[in-house]
Amino acid sequence: MNTVNDKAIVKDYFNATGFDRWRRIYGDGEVNRVQQDIRIGHQQTVDKVISWLEADGNLSGLSICDAGCGVGSLSIPLAKASAIVFASDISQKMVGEAQVRAKESLGNTDNLSFMVKDLEGLGGSYHTVICLDVLIHYPQDKAAEMITHLASLAESRLILSFAPKTLLLTALKKIGEFFPGPSKTTRAYQHREADIVNILVNNGFSIQRQEMTSTRFYYSRLLEAIRN
Ligand code: SAM
Repeated sequence: MNTVNDKAIVKDYFNATGFDRWRRIYGDGEVNRVQQDIRIGHQQTVDKVISWLEADGNLSGLSICDAGCGVGSLSIPLAKASAIVFASDISQKMVGEAQVRAKESLGNTDNLSFMVKDLEGLGGSYHTVICLDVLIHYPQDKAAEMITHLASLAESRLILSFAPKTLLLTALKKIGEFFPGPSKTTRAYQHREADIVNILVNNGFSIQRQEMTSTRFYYSRLLEAIRN
């Protein structure tokens, strides 16, 4: 798959089979064993971000860009905590589902807005930019460009998560235990932590907090980078 087409493939996927699959994983209905495991792992990542932000004690009124917001798993609780949330995703179906969920859980609210937009098209300036589990769709040679763009939108902080490229995960992927099953997902890219940290440092940020979430099928490294 060439990198030029990756984005179009990802967009189509999250507007079709990927939408059905991830809407269920990021929901509370019945799912299979692997999906349940991924659901639990992902929720842990979301909870860790929320606990960092709550610990800072300034969440109310804070402007936050949730880039690649999916079905709103992070945006909705952040809006509930009175942050001013600008959520966006490349997939119109994911954004549509996020809007339905936001309405169900928050009613009409003016501190959460949604846009169908890819990351590279985002503008504006936000105290905090958050991008969870989206780098998995970016090959290494596109990651620097993507992170540099998000960094340019972040006044103070950029929070990112990615599947770390470790020997263990590379081996698991080879024997098919990681992202199991044929064509259940798009191509998944892991990233070396040192590469991601370098990109952040080159953009004038330093790492403040970090976390790792691993379940059987879900692996996500979470970094909080603060503008120097
Ligand atoms: N961040 C959300 C979360 O953690 O709940 C969703 C994670 S989901 C694995 C990946 C999301 O990234 C999908 O909703 C997908 O449509 C979105 N996405 C992928 N590539 C994107 C891009 N270039 N720009 C914006 N969104 C993108």
